[in-house]
Amino acid sequence: MGKTVLAKFSKEQLRDFIAQNNEQKFRADQIFSWIWAKNAKSFDDMTDIKKEFREFLKENCEIIDVKIKKRQISKDSTVKYLVQFSDGLCAECVLMRFDNRSNLSMCVSTQVGCKMGCKFCATGKNGFKRNLLAYEIVSQILLAQIDTGLKITNVVFMGQGEPLDNYENVIQALELINKNLQISIRRITLSTSGIVDKIYDLSKQELVPTLAISLHAPNHKIRELIMPIEKKYDILSLKKALCDFCLATKDRVTIEYILISGLNDTKECAQELCEFLKDIKCNINLIPYNPVSDENNFKKPSKYDMMKFKYILEASGKKVTIRLERGADIDAACGQLAGKAD
Ligand code: SF4
Repeated sequence: MGKTVLAKFSKEQLRDFIAQNNEQKFRADQIFSWIWAKNAKSFDDMTDIKKEFREFLKENCEIIDVKIKKRQISKDSTVKYLVQFSDGLCAECVLMRFDNRSNLSMCVSTQVGCKMGCKFCATGKNGFKRNLLAYEIVSQILLAQIDTGLKITNVVFMGQGEPLDNYENVIQALELINKNLQISIRRITLSTSGIVDKIYDLSKQELVPTLAISLHAPNHKIRELIMPIEKKYDILSLKKALCDFCLATKDRVTIEYILISGLNDTKECAQELCEFLKDIKCNINLIPYNPVSDENNFKKPSKYDMMKFKYILEASGKKVTIRLERGADIDAACGQLAGKAD
């Protein structure tokens, strides 16, 4: 029989497990804290646990059964991990630090592969393997904390997979991140390609993260070209869901817009986007397209075109940022996560 994985337990389950093994229940709280708050790499790190019990734990348990299979560090110190789950499948996650802030952000995957098939994305090209369990999603953060010894302060659900296509596990993962890792829900962002009925569901949850929408087009025609989801949930039904989300949560959403040269970065597109967004409480995040090896021949826009696009949106009264590119040299930037094992 395999070893018992302690990071899979809630505090209550850990207390029961400890009691079943004839130790005092307060040990569970100590171990829980070593795992979730103090980034213990091994049971030997748990110095306030008596030696005999540590030996028992070493023989019968492991802290976490998700492993780092590969680590790549970019010139800008972004770290991309390829993590391997207990069934051998892998997904990627990315740790980012922005120079001028003390925040440490983790971008997690929610599925192995993805069904959505967005044309500008490397993940979608490899098809879909399976949903990740809540524990497997949270493990990515825990592993990065153990690996670096640093506390993650922000989490973004923007890695491989469509989070709202794995709804139950993602909701549970939000709870675990909030409770076990003590990260405020205000510091968690979930990005979706626009599964409209789940956006309504999300607005009714107890813990509602900041919502980011991968819009990437100002109208149905362009969106349909690059995002197959537009066929099922068209841009107008998405707009209605976003207005409703803002009303229900009293929150602002983030609109993500990948700028692809000549396709969706023209002056007309910017004007149409202003019109589309005028009733939505939102900030806009422009993302220069990151080349993935693709047959579409998409190109990155020039800096000049990006600034022009930004200016038109700002003139409509919206707050607009151009996302800093992180880790492009290690294929860790937006849309580049492919989950390749080599
Ligand atoms: S952009 Fe997101 S939703 Fe679209 S294919 Fe890639 S991982 Fe899936």
